[in-house]
Amino acid sequence: MTGQRRVLVVGLGISGMATAIRLHEAGWTPVVVERSPERRTGGYFVGLFPVGKAAAARLGVLAHMHLRTPPEHHTWTVDRAGRRHHSAGFLDQPGNPEGVMRGDIEEALRKRIEGRIEVRFATVPVAVQQTAEAARVTLLDTGGDRTYEEDYDLVVGADGLRSTVRRLVFGPDEKFMRSMHAIVCAFSLGHQVPGYPDSDQVILAQPGRSLWIFPFRDRTPTALFAYRTRDVDAEFRNDAITTLTSRFAGLDGGGMVAYALDQLRRQPDRLFDSVHQVRMPRWHDGRVVLLGDSAWCLTLYSGMGASAGMIGGVALGDALAAHPDDLPAAFTAWEKRMRPLVRKHQLLAHLKAQFFVPSNPFLAWVRGKVVAVVARRLTAAQRQSA
Ligand SMILES: Cc1cc2nc3c(=O)[nH]c(=O)nc-3n(C[C@H](O)[C@H](O)[C@H](O)COP(=O)(O)OP(=O)(O)OC[C@H]3O[C@@H](n4cnc5c(N)ncnc54)[C@H](O)[C@@H]3O)c2cc1C
Repeated sequence: MTGQRRVLVVGLGISGMATAIRLHEAGWTPVVVERSPERRTGGYFVGLFPVGKAAAARLGVLAHMHLRTPPEHHTWTVDRAGRRHHSAGFLDQPGNPEGVMRGDIEEALRKRIEGRIEVRFATVPVAVQQTAEAARVTLLDTGGDRTYEEDYDLVVGADGLRSTVRRLVFGPDEKFMRSMHAIVCAFSLGHQVPGYPDSDQVILAQPGRSLWIFPFRDRTPTALFAYRTRDVDAEFRNDAITTLTSRFAGLDGGGMVAYALDQLRRQPDRLFDSVHQVRMPRWHDGRVVLLGDSAWCLTLYSGMGASAGMIGGVALGDALAAHPDDLPAAFTAWEKRMRPLVRKHQLLAHLKAQFFVPSNPFLAWVRGKVVAVVARRLTAAQRQSA
């Protein structure tokens, strides 16, 4: 493998940066293009499980990542009337996921890229043409409104759920995106919900609707509204606040819903989106490969999307290092390694969705019972270790 092999990485998210770092290490020369005019920061709560932390360590970024799990936290489930009881939440799952902001992972990856790898902002691919020798990519500089063509040995589409590379090379979104019939809205709170310390997780999980508060060390909590719907498109006919106010009408949780909606009005930086998995029979075509949400979007329910993006980037670099002159063999080996992980977490996401937002009263009741057992075990374990 020589330093002359050029790879175009589309997307400066977790998956794109992880891939660029690992391929650079494997001897490739990456160019990263990003649609936004500048690097995004912040984001929302992300839990990093041990496999994700291991991938971050392999990329040399874990030590530079701002980890934010509060050293001591309590988890509360709140009922419709606002009565609270001890419970178990995201941070209490097996493997003790580490709480970070998405931006914390991206910042650690960025530090590793800076000065080593070329990044072009405000740049998007508009055409990809493959020949035996190269992938010829037409790039649009949206700032200068100028297009130009460049040849690459490899193109990695790490451009997220609604990937342009996927659309250009593999087909339309409808072919691969599977709706989970849910909407989420994630945003930062200016202050914790009144009556709770900053370090506490607070959960209101009712049939079809839920509100989660995720605590951090060193910053205010983030909130997540989640609800189920059959008609996803209808949820975008109004603005996010109007829609959420209407969808959460009649659900109070002791003032928690009204408080979160009020905080949302003050917070322009929010994510309001529908939830979809991406299911594809193959993630590569010729010299083009998809990676991360563009290839397999595991969704927030899995709690593994960020981890899988880093694992995928590391694994792709490993496969290309093992098959330096044989892209098809490298892609086949890579897919073989990634498929079991992706399949497992796409299946688990459907189960975990019931933990986030139960789909009906019976499943809400089952959820409550399961969580109560887990919470009792946690309390007993904490007493024993005290
Ligand atoms: C509310 C929420 C909570 C989550 N919680 C967790 C969690 O607890 N644990 C976990 O592991 N994961 C979690 N996830 C999932 C995780 O955030 C994603 O799986 C991960 O960030 C995906 O990274 P990515 O780089 O593949 O895609 P993205 O983050 O979507 O990045 C894609 C990048 O490509 C850029 N781009 C898009 N189109 C173009 C284009 N045409 N040209 C150039 N650039 C383009 C975008 O601007 C962006 O920078 C959560 C997700 C959400 C929404």
